[in-house]
Amino acid sequence: MPMSPAFKERLFPHLPAIAAHYGTPFHVYDEAGIRETGRRLKAAFAGIPVFREYYAVKALPNPAIMALMQDMGFGFDCSSAPELMLARSLGARGEAIMFTSNNTSQADFEAAAADGGCILNLDDISLIDKVPQMPELICFRYNPGARRQGNAIIGKPEEAKYGVSHDQIVEAYRQAQARGAKRFGLHTMLASNELNYRYMVQTAAMLLDLAETIQAALGIEFEFINIGGGLGIPYLPGVEPLNIQAMGEEITALFAGFRERNGACPALLMESGRYMTGPHGVLATRAINRKDIYRTYIGVDACMSALMRPALYNAYHHIEVLGKDAAAGTEVVDVVGSLCENNDKFAIQRELPVIADGDLLVIQDSGAHGLAMGFNYNGKLRPQELLLGQDGTVRLIRRAEQVEDYFATLRFEEKILRL
Ligand SMILES: *Cc1c(COP(=O)(O)O)cnc(C)c1O
Repeated sequence: MPMSPAFKERLFPHLPAIAAHYGTPFHVYDEAGIRETGRRLKAAFAGIPVFREYYAVKALPNPAIMALMQDMGFGFDCSSAPELMLARSLGARGEAIMFTSNNTSQADFEAAAADGGCILNLDDISLIDKVPQMPELICFRYNPGARRQGNAIIGKPEEAKYGVSHDQIVEAYRQAQARGAKRFGLHTMLASNELNYRYMVQTAAMLLDLAETIQAALGIEFEFINIGGGLGIPYLPGVEPLNIQAMGEEITALFAGFRERNGACPALLMESGRYMTGPHGVLATRAINRKDIYRTYIGVDACMSALMRPALYNAYHHIEVLGKDAAAGTEVVDVVGSLCENNDKFAIQRELPVIADGDLLVIQDSGAHGLAMGFNYNGKLRPQELLLGQDGTVRLIRRAEQVEDYFATLRFEEKILRL
């Protein structure tokens, strides 16, 4: 099921007033829902001696949302220098930040080591000699290759550019140890939007097995394994959500087994993005035009600058029309933005209640990889973000882009190289 009934109850009665006050379009996020998901995640893994979620910042890189994560005790998973700066702007330091880059540059390494450092997660064996200063705590991203199947969004591990291969993984830790590393973590990230919890259990089992192999080979002890993100959410109505309780129980049992065999077990880390915020955001947009040609088009005041997933992945995002349901009559329409790209559509041949100009459309599950993925192609600006607080407020947490933002990179000191 897309948007939860509780979120709807909190939002829908107030949506006309919010739209009147702030104007459309906007993404609005639900504090209560995010906190509830955080509580459930922690409860599911409470049986493991140490569990910590590192929120994948890229999903919704807004400081107000990140502050909620921090308040729940979560760390941050970052992959770029600006994401590191965001995490540090909230006061996160050192082991509260995991830096998972790939094709890592020297500038990335410098950013990782700056300002209290972070947990460095290396993507390749060749990077060991390129890290300016080997940190005491080091992690590698593992790519199992043909040992595992991936899924549609992320592809097969064998074809993925990420991670250290199976044949290189023991050697990678050996070399890191030789360069002075003393504490170790093991990471992987294989799935995206995976609704089958067993896949995540297999990932945990795979990493625990590998940790035992490496421990035996090198006489080291792993402080943590990190099973990555990729926990799915049901975008389509009628789809069962991921069974986080069962996932928690089965992974907890794996950790108990590991502890029995080895006397101790590593911490479990996870870096969910979508699962934490995806269902707790919606894009509210107003219908401004209706066009009847070979198909019927409902033109709205948002476009793919606000939400790329439908255009990029042909992803389904559930849409409701505020105050209208099927009982009042439906029709099949395409819901479109104003970009000069024919794939700038939020829905294609979707049966919706009959829509009139001025109606508010609620495009659901926009809380992850939504605004953050938006772009300025065609001079389209990204909309504002709002937070529906638990205290009965609706706060602006990012203003809409303005034309000056679009022109900002055109103001620079003149530079010419004469050849
Ligand atoms: C994108 C990403 C995540 C988060 O993925 P979700 O599907 O949002 O859970 C976690 N870790 C890494 C390394 C990523 O690239």
